[in-house]
Amino acid sequence: QSDMLIEKLQSAIRKEGLEEQIQVILTGCFGFCAQGPIVKVVPDNTFYVQVKPEDADELIHTHFVKKMYLERLLYLDADRNQVIRNPEQMSFYKPQMRIALRNCGMINPESIDEYIARNGYAALAKVLTQSTPEEVIQEIIESGLRGRGGGGFPTGLKWQITRKAVKSPKYVVCNADEGDPGAFMDRSILEGDPHSVIEAMTINGYCTGATKGLVYIRAEYPMAVEGLRIAISQATEYGLLGKNIMGTDFSFDIDIKYGAGAFVCGEETALIHSMEGKRGEATVKPPFPSEEGYLGFPTNVNNVETFANIPTIILKGADWYNKIGTEKSKGTKVFALAGKINNVGLIEVPMGITLREIIYGIGGGIKNGKKFKAIQTGGPSGGCLTEKHLDLPIEYDTLQAAGSMMGSGGMIVMDEDDCMVAMAQFYLGFTVEESCGKCSPCRIGNKRLFEILNKITSGKGTEEDLRKLRDLGQVIKDTSLCGLGQTSPNPVLSTLDNFYDEYVAHVTEQR
Ligand code: SF4
Repeated sequence: QSDMLIEKLQSAIRKEGLEEQIQVILTGCFGFCAQGPIVKVVPDNTFYVQVKPEDADELIHTHFVKKMYLERLLYLDADRNQVIRNPEQMSFYKPQMRIALRNCGMINPESIDEYIARNGYAALAKVLTQSTPEEVIQEIIESGLRGRGGGGFPTGLKWQITRKAVKSPKYVVCNADEGDPGAFMDRSILEGDPHSVIEAMTINGYCTGATKGLVYIRAEYPMAVEGLRIAISQATEYGLLGKNIMGTDFSFDIDIKYGAGAFVCGEETALIHSMEGKRGEATVKPPFPSEEGYLGFPTNVNNVETFANIPTIILKGADWYNKIGTEKSKGTKVFALAGKINNVGLIEVPMGITLREIIYGIGGGIKNGKKFKAIQTGGPSGGCLTEKHLDLPIEYDTLQAAGSMMGSGGMIVMDEDDCMVAMAQFYLGFTVEESCGKCSPCRIGNKRLFEILNKITSGKGTEEDLRKLRDLGQVIKDTSLCGLGQTSPNPVLSTLDNFYDEYVAHVTEQR
């Protein structure tokens, strides 16, 4: 629909004879999916929402010829019952802080000039001309940035370990294998701002001593793949990739590797195996990829969102970044807000914000005036949080202590009509399908767990089965080889903790 809208806007502009004054630019996602397609007019910052191709003529005529706002397409704030023209005033955007998403919706992702115009590649120039690799790594360590792909490992420390690894060549890998149902953080960054990731990977190459970067991306993301291809070729043409970057003796290039969409390939070792053309299976760590990764050589793996933060941290400094967030979780986090919530979309918020602020502030509350029941954070192997967690500050440790996790940033909201046992069954079914099958706790244990859940939901379960669910879930967590298995029982265990009555109702209904 957006493609058609662009055509109609261009034809409306031609009809009004305004081709010299107005340019239509296709940007990446604005994040406010519930209100799309969105047309933003700059520089006056007017935000038109839910624009259809048939609105194009009236919009162009009203805004640019009559010099008035087309009120019926302005955002209506339900709480205040008033139209809002400027996105910065909207409850959806106001509490957000966009660092990783800074350029999404602001530039044409296919234009390197537009990226450069917003300070793009200035961080690369700064590190290449003013800093040693050790100084840059120290800056990233001091910023407190932790991996945004799920693990939360300190990013600077990972860079330092790769730098200190003695073998060569070294590799930089961008993990763009986003496999959580309902998550689209990395895809949006790559579709809206691919140069930020390319710039950060190049900086990482300079710091770690790598000369080759690889983006591992699922082939089901054709727009992101195409955008990346264009961005890599533009950066090469501008001398920002390739030999002797910016006239220095540093050389670096980037290739794309395609994944077939296996959830386990988000795990570093499985991802590396897949890139090597092997079966995507996880292996025991150590050795860690930073010491022995792709083809047996030191490999620094970071995910898309982690990389997207890097240029801004370098330009604004660790002290600036360090002040955002909480003591143990610095900076911002991108979340894909989905499910039974009014403002479905992609958001970036400072760490420490509460679930209440996200659900009722940014998210605009529960759909159709229903009651909030639970939110699944951390993807399919995250956990379910409830009303009692609404005022919990969102950070790595608090989420884990509450039985969930940060994960890569999926957030699925459930209302009073949702059955939590069915929800746990859905997520477990997903991980059963996605298990690589290498270790028996995950391969067999999750299957047994799923069978017990099926027994319960089909009305044949017993209270003994509830005990088995808990015991088996804990064993799978404790004994699985990789993060997928270690977290896969979380939806079951967290719903047993928070919604035990619903399980009991399932096993007693039959009597
Ligand atoms: Fe494979 Fe699951 Fe074992 Fe991980 S935990 S290695 S996904 S079988």
